[in-house]
Amino acid sequence: MKPVRIATLAWAITCAVAFAFAGLSAQTGGAARQRWTTPTRAEIDAIYPDIEALYIDLHRNPELAFQETQTAAKLAARMKALGFDVTTGVGRTGIVAVMKNGPGPTVMLRTELDALPVEEKTGLPFASTVVVKNDSGQSTPVMHACGHDLHMSAWAGTARLMAEHRDRWHGTLIMVGQPAEERSDGASAMLKDGLFTRFPRPDFALSLHDDDTMPAGTIGYHPGPFRAMSDNVTITVYGRGGHAAMPYNTVDPVVLASRIVLALQTVVSRENNPVDPVVVTIGSIHGGTQGNVIPDEVRLQLSVRTYTSEVRTRTLAAIRRTAKGEAEAAGAPREPQVDAPARGNAPVYNDPPLTLRLAAALKKGLGEQSVVEMPLKMTSEDFAEYGLAGVPSALLHIGAVDPAKLAAARQTGIPVPAPHSPEWAPDHEPTLKAAIRAEATELLELFGGK
Ligand SMILES: [Zn+2]
Ligand SMILES: [Zn+2]
Repeated sequence: MKPVRIATLAWAITCAVAFAFAGLSAQTGGAARQRWTTPTRAEIDAIYPDIEALYIDLHRNPELAFQETQTAAKLAARMKALGFDVTTGVGRTGIVAVMKNGPGPTVMLRTELDALPVEEKTGLPFASTVVVKNDSGQSTPVMHACGHDLHMSAWAGTARLMAEHRDRWHGTLIMVGQPAEERSDGASAMLKDGLFTRFPRPDFALSLHDDDTMPAGTIGYHPGPFRAMSDNVTITVYGRGGHAAMPYNTVDPVVLASRIVLALQTVVSRENNPVDPVVVTIGSIHGGTQGNVIPDEVRLQLSVRTYTSEVRTRTLAAIRRTAKGEAEAAGAPREPQVDAPARGNAPVYNDPPLTLRLAAALKKGLGEQSVVEMPLKMTSEDFAEYGLAGVPSALLHIGAVDPAKLAAARQTGIPVPAPHSPEWAPDHEPTLKAAIRAEATELLELFGGK
């Protein structure tokens, strides 16, 4: 038995020495080239002029939902040049760019391609002057008023860094350029067109949106429900038109519609439990042609924001009941027509383990002070669709406001312009740079940089 023991001891010593050397060489190897977890400022600065040029080009040339052909073509050409396998026309105008780079997880990074029918009033030297025809054939000015141009440019910068350093990570990267976010049907169009079946199904889906409540470059995260459900509701009220001087011979739908607008305010303030978030906004009211004619009908367009199906159902029922009751009180010749979709936008649900994992990696990469937990919002986002399709997802926000302007706004109580405002002008240089760093950091966390 004794010789065996000696042999065992000798083997153990050999192993210990071998492990010690392995550890030493790993340490010296690590010192020569650290694991790539966050791009350096120099790496970002090197690509910035190219990315800023793209941003200015996209800002000058915005396109409406499902009309984003030039935008998609520009991004597709860039992705091809970087070595991605690119498919265009997914979900009408969407693009999917895939880079298979060895074993590892499949991660999708999504940007939005579309702009809004808003007339730009930023006064920027590269402001949009674009006017196009919308789907109804009416002329409308177009502006990247939600910052999707900033998202696309950061996305392109992140793709470039990942492609140029593909020896430093492994896995499959799927870059998705999604159309028609503002109409809330672009994500579902891509999914219906096989986003998760014709291409590798992602293990994780990520996106980043600009934000008016945080200083430029600050990342905000919120695990769990983060962006609201959204329903577009239309109410048409019917009256009996006639001469403005003889209202007693008419049923005035303008007065009826005005009563409905005011009565709907009590749905939120009197019928809803204040701990459940609800917004009912009447964003559009149209009726009549001139002052001396009482019209036959008035049309109201509403946006309803909620967080749960129960509250949504109750709120929509209250809107129907209120409209009907006011019409009856006015003696309207017909019940109002209330059109609400069977299913509105789903709420964005940020997968908590994924969100917290990304937040920890971002704090490490960008610094604790640059990454904050933020409150949920009543805005909605069709990024929710990817989570609904069963892929753990995280939509993070990035502050895009000059810190001095934000501080001044907090002093005066007058908020800075926000996304969808004609004056929304992100503080683009620090925001773009931080967005690229953040996106690459998130991807490297999930891929395990090397
Ligand atoms: Zn938007
Ligand atoms: Zn947006």
